[in-house]
Amino acid sequence: MTVFLGALMVIVAGLYVAAPFFRRDADADAPLSEPVAPAELLDRQKREAYAAIKEAEFDRQMGKLSDADFETLTEKYRLQALAAISGLEAKSESADRGAGRNPIRLAFCATCGHKLPTKANFCPACGRGIKADRELLRVQMGKALQDPIAQIG
Ligand SMILES: [Zn+2]
Repeated sequence: MTVFLGALMVIVAGLYVAAPFFRRDADADAPLSEPVAPAELLDRQKREAYAAIKEAEFDRQMGKLSDADFETLTEKYRLQALAAISGLEAKSESADRGAGRNPIRLAFCATCGHKLPTKANFCPACGRGIKADRELLRVQMGKALQDPIAQIG
């Protein structure tokens, strides 16, 4: 019985010692086997923009930002988020539909990042009207398309 318990303890101790190595292996493999996809960069850009908006909100509450400064700042980040979202949208939709001819559809709320239903006019999470953001996005995408041409010509 004592021998059996001893053997059991050796096995348990062995597993305990070996476990971190298995875990570390899995972690080390992840970045190598999955190079950073453009979609991931866009997703990061989106998340960073939302984080910046949250930070600006906090600064305004702390009195570090005036309302006007806050509006200017968040407008910029909102456009950054929208640009990232439109990039993600284009990636997910260009596969099964013709590129560029679709009416612009937002997949995520530009204010809170909540996933939006296909035909939503308002964000179900924060109640923000989506039409205005869609219009902003359309203007922004139009600029993005025109800019390179303007530089060449
Ligand atoms: Zn929202």
